[in-house]
Amino acid sequence: MTTNTSQSPVPLIQEKYNGAPERLSKEANDVRARLSSNRTLPTSRPRKGAVRLPPDVSSAEFETAIKELRQAIGVENVEVNDKALVDGWYLEHPNTHDAFHIAEQEELVSSATVYPGSTEEVQTTVRWANKFGIPIYPISIGRNLGYGGAAPRVPGGVVLDLGKRMHQILNIDAENASCVVEPGVTYFKLYEEIQKRNLPLWIDTPDLGGGSVLGNAIDRGVGYTPYGDHFANHCGMELVLPNGELLRTGMGAMPGPDGTDNPTWQSFQHAFGPSVDGIFSQSNFGIVTKMGFHLMPEAQHQSYCFTFLRDEDFEHIVDLIRPLAQKRILGNIPQLRHVIQELNVTGLRQADCHTGSGPLTREEIRVAAKKLPLGECSWVFYGTQYGSTNSIAEQLEIIKAEFAKIPGSRFFLPKDLPKGHYLHDRALVCSGVPVLRELEWLNWLPNGAHLFFSPIAPTRGKDARIIHEMIVEAHKRYRFDLFPTLCVAGREIHYIVNVIYDRADPDMKDRAVRMMRELIQKCAAKGFGEYRTHLLFADQVAGTYNWNNSAFMRFNETIKDALDPKGILAPGRNGIWPKRFRGKGWELTEKDVDLRSIGPRL
Ligand code: ADP
Repeated sequence: MTTNTSQSPVPLIQEKYNGAPERLSKEANDVRARLSSNRTLPTSRPRKGAVRLPPDVSSAEFETAIKELRQAIGVENVEVNDKALVDGWYLEHPNTHDAFHIAEQEELVSSATVYPGSTEEVQTTVRWANKFGIPIYPISIGRNLGYGGAAPRVPGGVVLDLGKRMHQILNIDAENASCVVEPGVTYFKLYEEIQKRNLPLWIDTPDLGGGSVLGNAIDRGVGYTPYGDHFANHCGMELVLPNGELLRTGMGAMPGPDGTDNPTWQSFQHAFGPSVDGIFSQSNFGIVTKMGFHLMPEAQHQSYCFTFLRDEDFEHIVDLIRPLAQKRILGNIPQLRHVIQELNVTGLRQADCHTGSGPLTREEIRVAAKKLPLGECSWVFYGTQYGSTNSIAEQLEIIKAEFAKIPGSRFFLPKDLPKGHYLHDRALVCSGVPVLRELEWLNWLPNGAHLFFSPIAPTRGKDARIIHEMIVEAHKRYRFDLFPTLCVAGREIHYIVNVIYDRADPDMKDRAVRMMRELIQKCAAKGFGEYRTHLLFADQVAGTYNWNNSAFMRFNETIKDALDPKGILAPGRNGIWPKRFRGKGWELTEKDVDLRSIGPRL
């Protein structure tokens, strides 16, 4: 049994493609030290079981298959998953299982990891999977933490870790303000390269910069500059289909002169004919090997925050944001957070603010928040404006006049707050500079892990109130602190709840699963559906999109069966099961609250 995490410094980007940038080296090492000091679980334990084999594949067949793939792409590029599982942490994450295991650690695991080095090797691997009937699960970086990490949905699937050997920035076109990247290019890497080349361009990053630019976009993740809808700002893809064939979308479907790429591949997303790009996001219809993105020309910007005194101001705040967002006076998608997040993003632990078990009381939150720079309040609005100095000043006057309608609201600029305050990190993220700050959340509990519950609600106070009250009530009953971050656009809200749990506490994990199952169902009954979810909740969420006798899922299944008749590519991802698996007990529904073991429910 190993109890110490590695004491070697966190790898830097110049040493490892998915490492930390040098500018964040100290912060990365410090945050790792804080997280490991809050860990009581051993770093790793001997495995209870042998290699988890792919379904319907004997160990002799598996051995033959592995041998054949090793011959095709190199022994060193095919690793059997037979060693102790190590959860690691964000920047040193595993590609063997879900590091934030809500199931037993050894359940949501791969049988092997494959590292293709080129599009051709991806095609070879896909053909191999078809030959042996082995499910493969592509990841780009595999840091999709809170949504399943690097784990395949079907235990014993083979993970295709694309990032390790395919991490080139293939092009940055300064005139067109666009780029083309391979799967292993992280936000950190793209940002550092643009700085190195001294180009006046921004990337758009989620809060943390270690994810894959391409992987996040196809999972429809978001960021916080005006280019924050990552999939909307992609332009052109290259994909390997489940039969091994290669496809280019958009203008890329037309060859460029003399064998070059089409010169408008990164200029016009839709090109001619059906716009098929969307079906390759949040699906299992293809493996993306290249993807283009638009980059935002750099701009002047001003981040700020407002605080609001009372919990009950919530509805009013949402109703004030709606017209400001619809008229595009708000420069980006702002975040509305509850003041409890001021505590954990500062690195405080639950035990620092609380005695006893269960969540903080409202009074404890009030007492702890009062000591922090924003003082006593209930809601914090983080926004950023873009444009010339004058236009930013004008925009801010309009916004201030609106929020002044709520008694007790206060306005802060970064210069009003001490150096370590979170607003300074927001100012970086909202101008395309990737950071690590949000990792502090995980310190809240020992062995901290999290699940996201991410429903969409209309931007209307009364709807927001309905969903908020359901979520508050469920958190109370299941005894969780509620960490809501609302990304509020002009017509819809991404209401993102971060359910933080202790990986060493089976009762807490069980409560987290039950609460997720219940909230998915209750929200759906009111018409609120999730935009994204953890692998193990995907069937249930997909099942709530069931209008007209589940016409949407039947459509997806028709495409799946046509493209992937052997059912090898990421079966079950986003609830889409190929014929081979469908209706054979693999689907996990509302009733499946015991997620300790994953496999067909017979
Ligand atoms: P990140 O590290 O950026 O969070 P991941 O690499 O974990 O992202 O990707 C998120 C999810 O998107 C994966 O679990 C996988 O289902 C899917 N995915 C990632 N990369 C690809 C790809 N190149 N082709 C197809 N699906 C992918």
